[in-house]
Amino acid sequence: MEKKPFVTLETLQEMLKTYSTPFHLYDERGIRENVKRLKAAFSWNPGFKEYFAVKATPNPFILKILQEFGCGTDCSSLTELMMSDACGFHGKEIMFSSNDTPPEEFQMASSLGAIINLDDITHIQCLEDTIGYIPETISCRYNPGGLFQISNDIMDNPGDAKYGMTTEQIFEAFKILKAKGAKHFGIHAFLASNTVTNEYYPMLAKVLFEVAVRLHEETGAEIDFINLSGGIGIPYRPDQEPNDIMAIGEGVRKVYEEVLIPAGMGKVALYTELGRFMLGPYGCLVTKAIHEKHTHKEYIGVDACAVNLMRPAMYGAYHHITVMGKENEPCDHRYDVVGSLCENNDKFAIDRMLPEIEKGDILVIHDTGAHGFAMGYNYNGKLKSSELLLKEDGSVQLIRRQEMPKDYFATFDFCSIFENYQ
Ligand SMILES: *Cc1c(COP(=O)(O)O)cnc(C)c1O
Repeated sequence: MEKKPFVTLETLQEMLKTYSTPFHLYDERGIRENVKRLKAAFSWNPGFKEYFAVKATPNPFILKILQEFGCGTDCSSLTELMMSDACGFHGKEIMFSSNDTPPEEFQMASSLGAIINLDDITHIQCLEDTIGYIPETISCRYNPGGLFQISNDIMDNPGDAKYGMTTEQIFEAFKILKAKGAKHFGIHAFLASNTVTNEYYPMLAKVLFEVAVRLHEETGAEIDFINLSGGIGIPYRPDQEPNDIMAIGEGVRKVYEEVLIPAGMGKVALYTELGRFMLGPYGCLVTKAIHEKHTHKEYIGVDACAVNLMRPAMYGAYHHITVMGKENEPCDHRYDVVGSLCENNDKFAIDRMLPEIEKGDILVIHDTGAHGFAMGYNYNGKLKSSELLLKEDGSVQLIRRQEMPKDYFATFDFCSIFENYQ
């Protein structure tokens, strides 16, 4: 499928009068339409709730949009919990799915009344020691081990993943939790990341539903919800077929009717913790070509770098690039599109066939709405970009200002030599 930016060159040129590149831009209309589709796909399940994975796009303006649709948040750190609280997510609207959890984060999650999803059997004791009791509602993360066969190369081997409890452990955990007063149970698993297939969720659901039935029968635990977590992917490459969320919802419904209903568990609520699917396609990184270099290869240097988008450097991930205004020109130039870090993996594209690029051209790097800005870092003392929201009415809102030198130096605030750098 041809990949088209959600923004036109004219709109970008207008924005460039006020905002300088690079920046991440989000598409409010796309975000809203997508969350409506997700809700429709699971509307057959009365308790359905999406807990947006905050780590994908930790921006309060984005969280507020999703909140309008009844989404909660999925947090895995102290500051994500704080951001959820600040945005007005309360109690069970927050899922705390953490691993290797620092005890003070359990404390924060419990003080907010969040649903705590335990990653390990030993965390039962840690939680009890930290907050002094076991909450009535509690969830456990499951890892059946082995290989999950339909996944891609980011996480395809649950047996090799650090997350979750083994089958034996989750049964034991439910018994212990029940004995300690837990009344409402949940099960969670995340077995494959960025799956671009309609099969993943139904397959995962089958694994979880079957274990839920056994857990209910063998431990007597009341299972209130099953959390299918994240992992629904997006087509980063033009040759990939996008997921059909309605087909995914129907696939899960079929398994629900096959496994849970006959077991008398027809009231179980389904939760999701999608990040990439919710935001990925509805964000892009806008950058300007500032140099061209002809050596052993042809290079285009842009004003963004891996600090703004780490996925290509970190995973060799493909992100489609559109040279704005040259959509109809032949892709007859082979380029490495690079940033300025002193790291040779700072390349947004390697040997990519693109139209001829001139200095000053605006490039849109697609599908950066999730795990894009959020993974940013400050290597080489590079500063993070701003984030902008393209609103439904066509106007543009600054939803995060760009980082300034003073922000970078802020952790030296006890030391006066940086006072002059704003
Ligand atoms: C990262 C993460 C998610 C979201 O994953 P996506 O691939 O963005 O859908 C959900 N739940 C947990 C616990 C995660 O760590």
